[in-house]
Amino acid sequence: MVSLSSYIKKLGEKMSNMQPWKQNVASIIDFAEKIFPDVEVVTRELSGKISTTNYKNISLRAKKLGSALEKFGIEKEQCVGSLALNTFRNMEMYYGISGMGAVMHTINFRLHPEQVVYIINHAENRLIFLEPVFAPLLEAVQDKCPMVEKFVLLCAKEEMPETNLKDAVSYEEFIENGDESYTWPELEEDAPCGLCYTSGTTGNPKGVLYSHKSTLLHAWAGSSANGLGLQKNDSILMVVPMFHVMGWGLPYLAPMNGIKLVLPGMGMDGAALTELIEKESVTLAFGVPTIWLGLLNYCKENNIKLESVKQTIIGGSAVPYSMIKQFDEEHDINVIQGWGMTETSPLATANLKTPAMEKLSKDELYKLQTKQGKPIYGVELKIVDDEGSVLPNDGEAFGRLLIRGPWINKRYYKFEEDAVDADGWFDTGDISTIDSEGYMTIVDRAKDVIKSGGEWISSVDLENVAQGHPDIMQACVIGVAHPKWDERPLLLVVPANDKKDKDDIFGYLDGKIAKWWKPDDIVFLEELPLGATGKVLKVNLRDQYKDHLMS
Ligand code: ADP
Repeated sequence: MVSLSSYIKKLGEKMSNMQPWKQNVASIIDFAEKIFPDVEVVTRELSGKISTTNYKNISLRAKKLGSALEKFGIEKEQCVGSLALNTFRNMEMYYGISGMGAVMHTINFRLHPEQVVYIINHAENRLIFLEPVFAPLLEAVQDKCPMVEKFVLLCAKEEMPETNLKDAVSYEEFIENGDESYTWPELEEDAPCGLCYTSGTTGNPKGVLYSHKSTLLHAWAGSSANGLGLQKNDSILMVVPMFHVMGWGLPYLAPMNGIKLVLPGMGMDGAALTELIEKESVTLAFGVPTIWLGLLNYCKENNIKLESVKQTIIGGSAVPYSMIKQFDEEHDINVIQGWGMTETSPLATANLKTPAMEKLSKDELYKLQTKQGKPIYGVELKIVDDEGSVLPNDGEAFGRLLIRGPWINKRYYKFEEDAVDADGWFDTGDISTIDSEGYMTIVDRAKDVIKSGGEWISSVDLENVAQGHPDIMQACVIGVAHPKWDERPLLLVVPANDKKDKDDIFGYLDGKIAKWWKPDDIVFLEELPLGATGKVLKVNLRDQYKDHLMS
């Protein structure tokens, strides 16, 4: 008899008899090229033209790009910057850049120009790919980015705008040098493939450096029955930007599963989105609540029903009850809420429809769907109090939400210190409950929670209730200074019509929230300030209204 340990010893360093895993995200597009060559990728180009390509073409052109990058002198692990919209060329960059061993560094073009400069320099970008529309933005700051040697504009040669960007060339010219029979290199275990910076509402943005392994695992988990609810015959509308948390993993998930992708480019308004949805028979749509708010209003005003869409996946900020209800009642669309963050790749929890949910009343269902969902296998969650003691999963106790898993950030890019505790737990900065079934519910972001006389008020819960008022289009609650209670809630409202009746809104809230949660005042606004990823900028509002209740 040969014992297991002596048998393993005989094998040398191998611990088992299985094959090593060659990790390169480009293996996904290679696979799609062979197995799903004709599956379509549709783009609304900047000109407004809708063009169609497929996974085979994307794969071949990604190889050309990978080889062109090599010829240019990009080395493994160097970060290549991109200021790009959701288009087929961006898909090619996702694979061409990461596949040749460099890092696909997505830059959020909505950030303040100073932050864009900071990010480009911090990531040491030598090469930047950009949409022609962002040329003026980079022309204004290129002198502050001395490491950048060349700019590649995402267009054809004949579409090149007048520009003084350094050594500017069109994308199509750049990849002409490439070779479509290029083979992807084998990469080291844990080699980096993508870099995304957090929005940095306070301080400088921090980089999260994803690996090929973490990205592949995340894509597999997202494809699972507990993941993002993908079906074989789906047509996915990807409104979530590819510059934010690697497009929620969709650029990987869709080709991995041979699913059609519909990319809206610049067209995020209701008219452009409904046109794409109808034309491309979209069945599954991904976006943040603010974008869907615009779409729902457009549909209402124009009497449009989104016939083809079966489900929508919404995340990035809390999905109000009223939105879940409106999607169901007016469009027969099931809302799947997802929760995650730049640091979690992002998918961590999802709230998918279960057979048990079919038996619930509509009201019970919508309430359940306001929860952020259950964790996906691979990530672990726990909630702790201020001393770090674990709190019970009873749906009542709330505390700081900690997370760990193979696609969760361990350390920010170029930081010396780990961002996790000794046991690998990452503090999300969110305050949550977890119930006995594993549903996680965000109570608030730690920095947004309102502390009135030492007691906590959830701004998310208040917003959720207020948003149900028929005359309210958007509601935002912030904590502002109060002479007696330290802090009290202030409700900021974007009205849905001409009615601006505070008493009516207060009356509506009565009985739906605890008495002492009632906002001290209501302010009507034309619009709410949005940050670079479409979230309401509460920091700005807190600053603006900090003395509102002091006089
Ligand atoms: P940033 O921190 O740059 O805004 P992230 O996308 O990383 O960008 O933000 C992550 C945060 O967004 C989470 O910590 C959480 O507070 C919030 N968030 C994401 N999804 C949801 C959701 N479904 N419900 C409530 N909050 C959410």
